[in-house]
Amino acid sequence: MNYKIDEKGFYGKFGGAYIPEMLHSNVMELQENYLAITQTEEFQTEFRSLLKHYTGRPSPLYWAKRLSEKYGTKIYLKREDLNHTGAHKINNTIGQILLAQKLGKTRIIAETGAGQHGVATATVCALMGLECIVYMGEVDIERQKPNVFRMKMLGAEVRPATSGSKTLKDATNEAIRDWINNPVDTFYIIGSVVGPHPYPDMVARFQSVISREMKEQLQEYEGRSNPDRIIACVGGGSNAAGAFYHYLDDEDVTLVAVEAGGEGIHSGRSAATSILGTEGIIHGSKTLLMQTKDGQIIEPHSISAGLDYPGIGPLHAHLITTGRAEVVSIEDGEAVNAAIELSRLEGIIPALESSHALAALDYLTLDKDESTIICLSGRGDKDLQTYMKYLNHE
Ligand SMILES: *Cc1c(COP(=O)(O)O)cnc(C)c1O
Repeated sequence: MNYKIDEKGFYGKFGGAYIPEMLHSNVMELQENYLAITQTEEFQTEFRSLLKHYTGRPSPLYWAKRLSEKYGTKIYLKREDLNHTGAHKINNTIGQILLAQKLGKTRIIAETGAGQHGVATATVCALMGLECIVYMGEVDIERQKPNVFRMKMLGAEVRPATSGSKTLKDATNEAIRDWINNPVDTFYIIGSVVGPHPYPDMVARFQSVISREMKEQLQEYEGRSNPDRIIACVGGGSNAAGAFYHYLDDEDVTLVAVEAGGEGIHSGRSAATSILGTEGIIHGSKTLLMQTKDGQIIEPHSISAGLDYPGIGPLHAHLITTGRAEVVSIEDGEAVNAAIELSRLEGIIPALESSHALAALDYLTLDKDESTIICLSGRGDKDLQTYMKYLNHE
C-alpha cells in the first residue's frame, strides 16, 4: 500500500484540487514550484536554521516515567508544546513563509478558527516583515479575544467574516475570495494538512520534522528508532501527519489517530469526522467530512478549538479507510481528565487538543514491554479559562 501522495495529488481516492477556475493559476503556481523550491539545499538550510534558533528545535522526546508506571507500559511525549508560540503550528508557518518569499510574494493571508494558526502566521509575518491579513469569523473574534489581541500586537490585521455561521468555514471562504482577487502578490498560508493539492503534502513535509527527530531520539533511549505505537490528535491532521510521516511505511508501528467525540459521538455535538463523515469535498479537497444528505457542512463541536473541524486531511482519510491508522474518539470530559492527570503526574499542563491524545491511553491494550510515543501538540496556557470553567473553578 502506498501512503504517500501520487503525482496528481491524491492519497488513494482522497485529496486532489477541486477548486473554482478563478483559483487555478494560484494553485498551479504552487503545485509547479513547491517541491522544486523546498527541496533545495538553500531552502532546507534556512528552514532548519529557523526551526533550531527561532522555534527551539529539536523538541525533546521525554520519557514520562510516572505516566508510564500508571499505565504499566513505556510512554514518551514528543514535546511540541515547548516550541515558540506553544504548539507545532509554527513549524508549518515558517516553512510556508520561506516559500512565499522565494516566490516573491509580499502579502500574506490566512484563515483562523480559534486563532492559533492566525497567531502562528502573524508571528512569522512579523519575523519576515511581511503584511499579514487574518480572516476570522465574527463569532470566533468575540470568543477568542486574547488571540485576536496577540495577532494585532504582532502587527497583523484581523478581518471579520460576517457571513453564514461567522466561524471558521466562513473565514476560509473570505480568505479564498481575497486570494482570487489578489493572485500576483499574495500567498495563502493554510494551517493544517487540508485544502487543495499541494497544501496537504506541503504541510505534512514541513511538519515531518517531528517524526524525523523522533526516530533519532528514540534511538538514543532504546537503540531502535521505531516505537510500537504513535498516538496523535487529529483536527485537520497536521501534528499527526508530522508524527506519522517517517513511519508510514513501517507497518510494525501502529498509528493511532484521536478525534474529538465532543459531548458524545451521536449527541449531535461532536467532531468525530472519521465515524460520522462521508465522502465529499471541503476546502478544495476530496475527503471525509460531516455533511447533511444534501451536502451542507454540519457544524462540529469539541471542547478544544483546534479539533473543532468538520473535515479531516485527505492523508488521514486514506490512512483510516485503508486500516493503516486506528481511530479513537475522546469526549470533552475525558480530555479534561487526561489533562489533569498529566499535570499531576508529570508537571506538564497540556493543550486540550493534546489531552485527547493522552486520553486514548485508556482505550488501548498496552503491553509492559511496548513503547508508545504521544505527540504532545501544544501547551495548555491558552486553555486555562476552559479548564477553569469545566472544573467550576471560576
Ligand atoms: C491546531 C492544533 C491542533 C489541531 O491541528 P492539527 O492540524 O490536527 O494538528 C492540535 N493541537 C494543538 C495544540 C493545536 O493548536
